[in-house]
Amino acid sequence: MKKITIAIDGYSSCGKSTMAKDLAREVGYIYIDSGAMYRAVTLYCLENELFTPEGINTDELEKAMSDIQISFQLNPDTQRPMTFLNGVNVEERIRTMEVSSHVSPVAALPFVRAAMVKLQQEMGKEKGIVMDGRDIGTAVFPDAELKIFVTASAEIRAQRRFDELKAKGQEASFEEILQNVKERDHIDQNRAVSPLRQAEDAILLDNSHLTIEEQKQWLKERFEEATN
Ligand code: C5P
Repeated sequence: MKKITIAIDGYSSCGKSTMAKDLAREVGYIYIDSGAMYRAVTLYCLENELFTPEGINTDELEKAMSDIQISFQLNPDTQRPMTFLNGVNVEERIRTMEVSSHVSPVAALPFVRAAMVKLQQEMGKEKGIVMDGRDIGTAVFPDAELKIFVTASAEIRAQRRFDELKAKGQEASFEEILQNVKERDHIDQNRAVSPLRQAEDAILLDNSHLTIEEQKQWLKERFEEATN
């Protein structure tokens, strides 16, 4: 069967990565979470005090970009990918509210996007890849054979993120998460470089009222249509 490229874009916390990961595992494709890459750069900024009261220290960050190495490895127990920043497993640390509330301005910097997009395109050279993010169907893989754009209401997305953090034992306030979800939507949609938007040839999925199982089945059907 021919290998294709699958781009899954959409708003934050709308379950893109769950469906992308499940499909990749089922069909034997590589899965790349592009948001994890922007989160890793953000963690680097937090750890190196590049957030100042005046904003991000872009000069220092730009200089540091060549020292920021991001890679993924499969967790042998869960078969889930883990994100590494300069050889250190940061999978847990990039999912905190602190990173979530700093990531969108970092991801709006053109030199950060250029570096991440280049890396993402290299990872997808051989096809057989499912990548999720905001600009995968529009900027990273404009020729992807299957493009999905996922959406759900902000309240439902905030509830899902709240449940996820709670399950991990992390303190969270629903109001704070909802605020963060809305803020990230706004920054992602209004930035100058590769703003979040649906590619013309993407299939829209509103999963507000779908179970994980239903959306998984829906995506599998789209995959079968695209590969047959
Ligand atoms: O997908 P996730 O919510 O983990 O992504 C974190 C942030 O990274 C997003 O809110 C967005 O600002 C940014 N991002 C991006 N382009 C991508 C993936 C994520 O700008 N392809």
